[in-house]
Amino acid sequence: MTPAHHAPRGGFRNPWPTGTPRGFGDLPRWWWQRWREGRPADPAPDAFPVATPAIVRPRGAPDECRATWIGHATVLLQVGGLNVLTDPMWSARASPLSFAGPKRFVPPALALEALPPLDVVLLSHNHYDHLDRPTVRALARAHPGARWLVPLGLARVLRGWGVREVAEHDWYDEARLDGAAGEVRIGCTPAQHFTARGPHDRNATLWCGWTLAVGRWRVFFAGDTGLHPVFDEIARRWGPFDLVILPIGAYAPRWFMRAVHMDPEDAMQAYRALRDAHPDASPPAMLPIHWGTFRLTDEDMLEPPRRTRARWEADGWPAERLWLLAHGETKAV
Ligand code: ZN
Ligand code: ZN
Repeated sequence: MTPAHHAPRGGFRNPWPTGTPRGFGDLPRWWWQRWREGRPADPAPDAFPVATPAIVRPRGAPDECRATWIGHATVLLQVGGLNVLTDPMWSARASPLSFAGPKRFVPPALALEALPPLDVVLLSHNHYDHLDRPTVRALARAHPGARWLVPLGLARVLRGWGVREVAEHDWYDEARLDGAAGEVRIGCTPAQHFTARGPHDRNATLWCGWTLAVGRWRVFFAGDTGLHPVFDEIARRWGPFDLVILPIGAYAPRWFMRAVHMDPEDAMQAYRALRDAHPDASPPAMLPIHWGTFRLTDEDMLEPPRRTRARWEADGWPAERLWLLAHGETKAV
């Protein structure tokens, strides 16, 4: 039987009632609203402090789990003796054009040349703020042995950009690799989003999140997603997680973005679902991403961490488990 997220005429779709994204036809209403209401000013250039990453070279110990936020959705995970990079994006604009499109506010906190040897690269989908051709080309040259895991439809693109080891996965697939700490299991999770790089390829390739199990560690990287009903299922299947990496930004205006991007309160609801699937395990650390690096939407760029912290405290989760990192900051579980 065809899975519900495969569209009957090819391409993909969100299988939940909450998951119908707005389309190109809704853009004029958004532009009109922005023109009428304006949007908060850009933050001051020094609003986002940049920390010096604490990378272990070449690799961390098998009993270590540390994460470095390089910016936006790019995280370097040094977990169970493995170096894993998510959604690598080092360019100055998230755009097909080098002179137009959303511009970076904060430079990548680690030079691409300063990365330790990469074992795995996880890609969530093809939007320009997550899949960047110059970055992929540079990584493919510098880390030819890295294994890239991508959602359905993207392997051909990456091979065309010089990546050698690339495997495509569908939701609920599992990949097994051998790592220093034994077997590594990587799960491809559902997400509620969409894809496009041009006007004619909407939802032609899949979107997803990833789970990583290596040694005693379990990590979840949600990719780009709206709030959907299967976070608890993801946790039951692949948890309990030690660390969950959830997007909290690019949510305004809500009527346009709700289906495809969580706001901080949505992210905290997802966190609760992930945690409640394993009530006896200690609450996972949460690393919020997808804020503070590029301005993609209309909210104040400093609002996502503020609202996340407020809800985290109101919900009574342990303060030290919320990792609102500075760009470049490293933290260990
Ligand atoms: Zn996206
Ligand atoms: Zn994004």
